[in-house]
Order: sequence, then C-alpha cells, then structure tokens
Amino acid sequence: MVQISKLGNLLTLEEYNLVSSILEEAGFKLDQDLEVMDDRILEAFVRLLVEREQSKDKRKKIIYALRLLLEESGNPIASKFNPRTPMSILPPQVRKNSFQEIRKGYTLDEGIREAQRCLTCKNPRCVEACPIHFGIPAAFRLIAQGKIDAAYKLSLSYYPCLGTTGRICVRFCEDACIMNEIGMEPLAIRYSHRVIADYADKSSVQLTPKPSTGKRVAIVGSGPAGLNAAYHLVLNGYSVIVYDAADKIGGMLRLSIPEFRLPSHIVEDEVSILKKLGVRFELRKKVGRDITISDLAREYDAVFIGVGANKPKRMGIPGEDLQGVIQALPFLYKVKNGEIKKISGKVWVIGGGDVAMDAARTSLRLGASQVKIMYRRSRAEMPADHEQVTDAEEEGVEIVLLATPIEFIGEDGVVKKMKCIRMKLGEPGPDGRRRPEPIPGSEFIEEVDYVILAIGQDPELDFIKPEDGIELTKWGTIKVDENMATTRLGVFAGGDAVRGPATAIEAFADGKKAAESIHRYLQSK
Ligand SMILES: Cc1cc2nc3c(=O)[nH]c(=O)nc-3n(C[C@H](O)[C@H](O)[C@H](O)COP(=O)(O)OP(=O)(O)OC[C@H]3O[C@@H](n4cnc5c(N)ncnc54)[C@H](O)[C@@H]3O)c2cc1C
Ligand code: SF4
Repeated sequence: MVQISKLGNLLTLEEYNLVSSILEEAGFKLDQDLEVMDDRILEAFVRLLVEREQSKDKRKKIIYALRLLLEESGNPIASKFNPRTPMSILPPQVRKNSFQEIRKGYTLDEGIREAQRCLTCKNPRCVEACPIHFGIPAAFRLIAQGKIDAAYKLSLSYYPCLGTTGRICVRFCEDACIMNEIGMEPLAIRYSHRVIADYADKSSVQLTPKPSTGKRVAIVGSGPAGLNAAYHLVLNGYSVIVYDAADKIGGMLRLSIPEFRLPSHIVEDEVSILKKLGVRFELRKKVGRDITISDLAREYDAVFIGVGANKPKRMGIPGEDLQGVIQALPFLYKVKNGEIKKISGKVWVIGGGDVAMDAARTSLRLGASQVKIMYRRSRAEMPADHEQVTDAEEEGVEIVLLATPIEFIGEDGVVKKMKCIRMKLGEPGPDGRRRPEPIPGSEFIEEVDYVILAIGQDPELDFIKPEDGIELTKWGTIKVDENMATTRLGVFAGGDAVRGPATAIEAFADGKKAAESIHRYLQSK
C-alpha cells in the first residue's frame, strides 16, 4: 500500500501540508492507497497546486515526488507525467540538401501515447489561448481512446485543415498548456492535429451543406482566412465563390511556405474538401484589376476580404535596389514554383521571423556556400517559432544577433558588401518589445553575394478606393468591428489584411468568425 504520508520523506513539512490540503480539496482521502487516485483528482490537484504555490521550482519538486509514488503504487495515471513523445525527424545532413518534409509525423501508437498525457483540464488554458478555441482536451480524449475518426469529426466544426496546422501552427496553445507550470513539457498539440489528419478515415464523415439559402457570397483571397470563411458559409447553404489573384489556392500556405515544412499536396488535399462541398474558385482574378470591390459588393449578398499582407517592407537604406538584394516572399514563391533552382555564394537573410528562417533554410537547400541571418534584436525577441530556429541552426544557418545593415555596397550594379552596425536593446516600444538602438562607432562590413530581406509585410489594399466606403486603419490594415464587419454594410474582412502579418490559425479563426457574422447578417436581411 502506498499512501500520501510517504511524501513526507521527499518533501519539507510545509510542502507536505500544502499537498495534503490540496488533495483533500480535490476529493482524495489521505488514508487511501495512491493506486485508486483517478485522473479527475489528478487534474484538480495540478490546477490547485498551480493556483496556490507561487514557486515553479516547488511545484516541479512536488509533482516529481507525487509521480514517484504513483509509479510505486502501480497507478497508470503516473504516465500523465511522462516526457513529451518526440517526433522523428530527418538528420540535418540529409535535410539540408533536400526539400522533402523533415518531420515524419507520429505513428498512431505515439499519437495515442502523447494524447494520454493530457490532463483534460476543467478550465483548459490551451483552448483559451487558441484563436479558434479548438476543443483540445476533447480531441485528446478521443485520440487517447484511439477514436481518430471521431476526433476528425470534432475538428471539422472548426476548420478542415488539420494537416496544415498540424505542421505549421505557431502553437499559442502549447505555450499556455498547464504542464509548463509544473516543469513538464507541454502537450504536443500541433503534432496531435497531424495525427488526426494522418490517421482519420476522411470518408467516415459525410459533410452535407444545409439546404440552399439562394444567397451568394464572394470571397477575395484563398488563404486560410478566405478558405475557412468559404467552408463555414457553404456548409450553411450559401453559394460561395472565391477570387484569387494567384494561380494556386491556399494563400501563403500554398504559395510561400517551403515544401520541407508544408508539402503542397497537404494543402491541395484540404482544399479538395471545399471543392467537393461546392465552393467555386476563380483563379488569376485580381480584385482591383479584373473586378472592383464595389462590383462584388453590388453583385453578391455579402463579401469577405482575406487578401493577406503580402507587400514586402523595404529597409529604406542605400543600395536596396542593387542586383542581388531581393525580397524573401517573391524568392520563396519562385522557389516553390520551380522558377529558382539554385543560389550560390554567401547569402545573408535580414529578419528574425518565420519568413527569414524559411528564406535561409531554402537558400541552404539551393546550394549557398554560407547562409547567415542578421536580426537587430536578441534571440528572446525573435518572432520565429523556436522549433524553426533550432531546425535552421542544426542545418548550418548561423544567426547574428543585435546587428543590422545600414548600406548595401555594389560594383557594377551588383551587391558585393553590406555595411552593418551593432545594436543594443533600449526601452520597450509600443509592442512591448525592447527597441533596438544602434551603438555609435560599431560599424562593420560583411561580404555578400545575396541579401534576402525578410523584415515584414504590409497588406496591399490599393484596390480599396475612398468611394468603396471601406475604411482603413492608420496602420494600413482594413478596419473591422468585433464581428469582422468593415465600415461598408455587407463587406467583412479578416486574416492578415486586418491584423497585419500574423498567423495561419488567427486567419482560420477570423474566417470562421466572419462566416458566422455573414450568416447572421444575411438571415436578418
Ligand atoms: C514564408 C512564410 C512562412 C510563414 N510561416 C508561418 C508559420 O509557420 N505558421 C503560421 O501560423 N503562419 C506562418 N506564416 C503566416 C501565415 O501564412 C499567414 O498569417 C496566413 O497565411 C494569412 O492568411 P490570410 O488568409 O490572411 O492571407 P494569405 O495567406 O496571405 O492569402 C491571401 C490571398 O489573397 C490573394 N490576394 C491578394 N490580393 C488579392 C486581390 N487584390 N485580388 C484577389 N486575390 C488577392 C493572394 O493571392 C493570396 O492567395 C508564414 C507566412 C509566410 C509568408
Ligand atoms: S493540453 Fe495542456 S492545458 Fe490543454 S487540457 Fe491538456 S494538459 Fe490541460
């Protein structure tokens, strides 16, 4: 028999008293064998411990001690505190020479094992942090029982693209997972999305749109915002047509994110779900060039604008127009499209986000002899997913922090050198991040063959004219209210066009929210 009193050997008296009082409050009688503790009590224990004990080190110590006792008692819930299940990945030497996807996905057994770690929290922080409020504990419960088709069915109430987010979601949920508070690694929520996408029998769920409302909605942009708006609208009985300037469907997911992170066939498979539901796509149709936004607003019962933020920012320094100084977005697009197959020499990528990482890792794969990233802040401020940063460094990308170019120097119109300056971090700016400030006299020169700029993008909204009645914000994004409605009746917007460069899951969430608002608006019309 293993009782809680045994914790007295592992904890201080104060810690032991805390554990006892929390366990009693969680509904566990202290004289019981730990073998009978169930996962409901364990969840309550962890929740109360995080509420009551301020020191993370102490929480970690208490959980470690409890885990030892649970194991000793043979209680299987001890496995909730197992380490996170690793996912197999191609070795750096192999992956840096190839565009094949680097992560292989979990086996079904690994996926189930990882799901069984979830505490299925009563007030799940992960769900609150997820922009679309995905039912994470419910999905984990189903996966843990091997009910993958049911988990897939659940996921379809949010968006139909789990293979995509299962690969590239930035994981606000994992950062919020309560496991972080007790010194454990968070649940692999992103990977578990991929488990659902990889192992569900998609034909087991028949999606049937509601009877036709007879109303038509136009969507501008087929990125995650537009796709998810289209998905929810078509299911609600609307006739939906998506216009996109590009020749492929999926926005940045399909046009720019490299194959080694998100293979095109994943996006194409998920887009086919929409096509089967009856969503029509008009490609190579640019709003502003081929049709105006006011034409659409007149012709359709409602319009959703999801055109993203794809106009690269410029640095505004001398030499930016030299040959060899290029923008990351068109570069990535041309590589993905097969138009660029090689790059040679020394490549410098400027920026610290996922676009910069993608450009650097792509350059390595295209044959650059040296790839370095220059970022003006410190590592802690880098907006890129830390998994991407680690992947890039393992592959041989070097990251130079707290420095920025101030001039590109060329010979015969071709960039050859880059004059840079070291930076230090000053006071926090309006976004909460500490502002980088140049250190006078710290200039230095680097030799370059290519410089790839990845310092951010703005929405390209020239197609919106004053007479359209769609107001923009002072940041050049589309102004919307809490229902994603623009200032023109019947016109809604979401994704990067509203937020500035953000994330796929925020765009999916905006698309869903806008579809719900459009449905309410059209029902009341
Ligand atoms: C290289 C790169 C890597 C990224 N990595 C990640 C990541 O790892 N994780 C993550 O969550 N996010 C990542 N992002 C960001 C993510 O892709 C975007 O936040 C998301 O795609 C925004 O979705 P959206 O629907 O608002 O717009 P977009 O995906 O940009 O789609 C907009 C669509 O509108 C079309 N369009 C634009 N103007 C017009 C017009 N006038 N008429 C008709 N069509 C038009 C475009 O052709 C495009 O297809 C990355 C972005 C890039 C570029
Ligand atoms: S993923 Fe983490 S926060 Fe979410 S329910 Fe599971 S344990 Fe709780």
